[in-house]
Amino acid sequence: MSIEIRHELCTACGVCSRICPGTLIKRRDGKAVIPRPERCWGCAACVKECPSEAIALFLGDDIGGLGGRMTVRRDGTLLHWTVTMPDSSSQTITVNTKDSNKY
Ligand code: SF4
Ligand code: SF4
Repeated sequence: MSIEIRHELCTACGVCSRICPGTLIKRRDGKAVIPRPERCWGCAACVKECPSEAIALFLGDDIGGLGGRMTVRRDGTLLHWTVTMPDSSSQTITVNTKDSNKY
């Protein structure tokens, strides 16, 4: 399980390195890097908090995925979770964080 960082989208804000509970995300020339991706347990905190959609969670065999990638776009209190498969098909689920305690 791991993340992928799209460096072309990274604005070097540093949020992900502050938020990762395992301090797995480092900075190189300001931009985020994950030197030991095999240590990531996929909590998705960095995916959710990255303001630039620069981080994707890789959905590999180890979690029953099919090689897709999950990204999150924040829009106020809404989180749009999108899974994109290798064939470019995608599906988005929107969650309102104001309602998160209802479930
Ligand atoms: S949170 Fe996103 S934009 Fe900010 S440093 Fe990390 S990857 Fe780059
Ligand atoms: S998914 Fe969780 S454990 Fe993995 S790098 Fe991001 S914040 Fe760290």
